[in-house]
Amino acid sequence: MSAKISQTYVARARQFESRRDINKIGKPVDHGEWEISPPTVDAYYDPQMNDINFPAGVLQPPIYDAKMDDAPNYGDTGGTIGHELTHGFDDEGSQFDAKGNLRNWWTEDDRKKFESRTKCVQDQYAQFVVVDDVHINSALTLGEDVADLGGEILAYMAWKGASKDKNLQPIDGFTPEQRFFIGFAQWDCANERPEDLRVRAATDPHSPARYRINGVVVNMPEFSQAFSCNQDQPMSKPADKVCKVW
Ligand SMILES: [Zn+2]
Repeated sequence: MSAKISQTYVARARQFESRRDINKIGKPVDHGEWEISPPTVDAYYDPQMNDINFPAGVLQPPIYDAKMDDAPNYGDTGGTIGHELTHGFDDEGSQFDAKGNLRNWWTEDDRKKFESRTKCVQDQYAQFVVVDDVHINSALTLGEDVADLGGEILAYMAWKGASKDKNLQPIDGFTPEQRFFIGFAQWDCANERPEDLRVRAATDPHSPARYRINGVVVNMPEFSQAFSCNQDQPMSKPADKVCKVW
């Protein structure tokens, strides 16, 4: 296909989609509509629909793997499910009610406590260096960072609940707890160029991959226990310094 013809197809597809969107004005909201297609490797929470969506693309290897044991699947896919759930209660989602309307449904006291807890996360991520002298803009990434942390804590609780009567054994030299966190870390394997990191530090509401993992596990004492970290090692924090929103 020549470049000229393919450009025409792209332009026409865009025109079709924008007309389809404009035609929705004045009509009831279609609650069955998804923002992404079935093969997309992604998931999302929509505060105005108050729904979470997981296409088939994100529920297959190397992410969710039915042939693997539960520990890495909970650490990885369980964490993603928890992440999307927590978006309903992050700095943005918490401002929408159950019907998706922008309406305050919290007491003033709850909101104050929520803000002091999220400040812990915001201050922590502001210290992380993206590249050279560029730090994370943690006011921009706060919602995603809160969802990453809350999601992984939820996944750990869910996995512990589901496996409490099972006699789990080490596999491939790693304990079940270690496999949970390895599954989590492998979810965001990435190789990023400094130029791209620099652009995304200014534009992407997600923190860079390494902090989406390290920034979470440093707040989970279960991680340092699983890997027998000493108190003075980078992934351990004293219990009173750990950030926890949900
Ligand atoms: Zn998210």
